[in-house]
Amino acid sequence: RDFENFEYEALPGRIVFGAGAARTRLAAEVERLGSARLLVICSERDAPLADALTAPFARRVAGRFTEVRQHVPVDSAARARARAAESAADGVLSIGGGSATGTAKAVALTTGLPVVAVPTTYAGSEVTPLWGLTEEGRKTTGTDPVVLPRTVVYDPELTLGLPVELSVTSGFNALAHCVDALWAPRRNPVGVLFAEEGIRALGAGLPTVAADPADPRARSDLLYGAYLAGTALATAGAGLHHKICHVLGGAFDLPHAATHAVVLPHVLAFNAPYAPGVVHRIGRALGADDPVAGLRALAARLGVPRGLRELGLRADQADEAARLVADAAPPGNPGPVDHSAMHTLLRTAWSGGPAA
Ligand code: NAD
Repeated sequence: RDFENFEYEALPGRIVFGAGAARTRLAAEVERLGSARLLVICSERDAPLADALTAPFARRVAGRFTEVRQHVPVDSAARARARAAESAADGVLSIGGGSATGTAKAVALTTGLPVVAVPTTYAGSEVTPLWGLTEEGRKTTGTDPVVLPRTVVYDPELTLGLPVELSVTSGFNALAHCVDALWAPRRNPVGVLFAEEGIRALGAGLPTVAADPADPRARSDLLYGAYLAGTALATAGAGLHHKICHVLGGAFDLPHAATHAVVLPHVLAFNAPYAPGVVHRIGRALGADDPVAGLRALAARLGVPRGLRELGLRADQADEAARLVADAAPPGNPGPVDHSAMHTLLRTAWSGGPAA
């Protein structure tokens, strides 16, 4: 058995999933929550979509906030909170990617308002109690059950127009949530089940969406996988992979999702010799005898950049990142996270050499 001892805390939240669900079921979900004065949070790009989706319950919309910014800068959060107060909002509806969800969470964090989330990417934030805010380039994160959306409406139709490159990097980000959940500090049997099924769905959907972004079945697979991935991350916590990406994004400003896609096969290659059970699960989910080779082949086929150097990282920054990761290693990682091991891992990921 994989688990002799474990702790697991189930998270609340209502999930409504299906093609067309945002059009046909959102009004009932808002009503179910009892919100009469919603603050709608979306990007400028999504404002027309938000108008269309909220038209059936327009009388319940009290205000709108469209200044959504990546990584939720504190001034953007402050303006969103002010808008909630001006509109006397009793609930928040976010429509968009991780940045829109993150802005809604920032409002919930200080106001306690319930959130309904309608995600349009594969970030998975809508099912986690994690929040993040940035100030002068420094990101602060925390966990608070109050930011966890009460209801999530997943509608694959909203993702049909997500460009291939974003779909691939965002999908890899979700894959990374699943893989990390298999060895993260709060690893547990429920999270592992979610993670394995998530890897299966994401591995099936990614190549099809890259070839035909409008394939409804594959879009449904990816969004379903993203839901499972976010849930796995929420119950198991972040592991070595997320630690590395957090350092690379925070200290060297590397792009969030693409960094995940480049780093993932390298972290798996590093941990594989110490975690045969995890390797077996990932291989089974991907339908690959060698999951490291399988992940690399998937990344190459989808046009993911090979090395961190292609994302703008310098070699000396890779060395600095290795030190930062080794100094704050997540507990319980299968492979020993010391400075020399992280140096080798990050130098290989930097050059784009084989993850072996
Ligand atoms: P994002 O929300 O910034 O979206 C990326 C881009 O895609 C934006 O330009 C957006 O306008 C566009 N976009 C979104 N949906 C689209 C669609 N359907 N069609 C076309 N374009 C679309 O980025 P993201 O990758 O969704 O989320 C990343 C953010 O979420 C980061 O800040 C990350 O830290 C955070 N995050 C948080 C958690 C958590 O649990 N708190 C988990 C994962 C990610």
